[in-house]
Amino acid sequence: MSTHHPSTDDTNSRPKAVLFCPECGHESPLTGDWIVRENAGRTTHTCPACDATVGDRRRPEPALAY
Ligand SMILES: [Zn+2]
Repeated sequence: MSTHHPSTDDTNSRPKAVLFCPECGHESPLTGDWIVRENAGRTTHTCPACDATVGDRRRPEPALAY
């Protein structure tokens, strides 16, 4: 039997959830000025500067609800 250690996700090691726009380099926290759209249960963040879709997340992160 082996003990399970809680694996550290490198996505969790960041102090703040910040999204970057790959198109224009716009930078803002998840709760920033992104245009948030919900589509079929998925949340899409759209850049307010160039209208590019940023951060295509496939699963919701309940940790954000802390
Ligand atoms: Zn942009």
